[in-house]
Amino acid sequence: MNSKSANKIIISPIGDITPDLLVPIASELNRIFGYPTEVLSLLDDIDFAFQPGRNQYHSTPVLEQLALSAPADAIKVLALVEVDLFIPILTHVYGEAQLGGKACIVSTIRLNEGRSYQNTQEPFQSRIVKEAIHELGHTFNLRHCREHTCLMHYCRDESDVDRKSDQLCRYCKVLLEDEIKRMEVK
Ligand SMILES: [Zn+2]
Ligand SMILES: [Zn+2]
Repeated sequence: MNSKSANKIIISPIGDITPDLLVPIASELNRIFGYPTEVLSLLDDIDFAFQPGRNQYHSTPVLEQLALSAPADAIKVLALVEVDLFIPILTHVYGEAQLGGKACIVSTIRLNEGRSYQNTQEPFQSRIVKEAIHELGHTFNLRHCREHTCLMHYCRDESDVDRKSDQLCRYCKVLLEDEIKRMEVK
């Protein structure tokens, strides 16, 4: 699957995701992972994942659909949604990823919290960018990191996200380089 011809990271917006969000995400994913990025809509909606009892969307089936709809030249796929996501063991998630797999997803809705008392879009935007890198990092086999400033640190709330830097720590960087090398000799 991860042959040498697959060399693109696809960013797939679902719903009303604006270019002022997609542009910084695309350039930051390129900076961290080194692959070219392309914005391409892969799913029209994720209604199939809606659970009326919770009024939320179950992210795991969305990942499966994304992986199936990914074009052959996609090495990874990141979906961006503006609806609330969950996995059964948690009340909500900012996102979910297939560890070492192809697909991941990030929701903007919870990361938006706190924006009302901010005069700028910037904290909101940088949270989404950080969580997009975080989830994509999982698809490159990166696990959670204990370093609070590392992008792979697990965040329980928005202030945890704000505390993270825009970098992977040295340890996670090495693991990412190793994983990319491993994928490329396959
Ligand atoms: Zn995580
Ligand atoms: Zn780290």
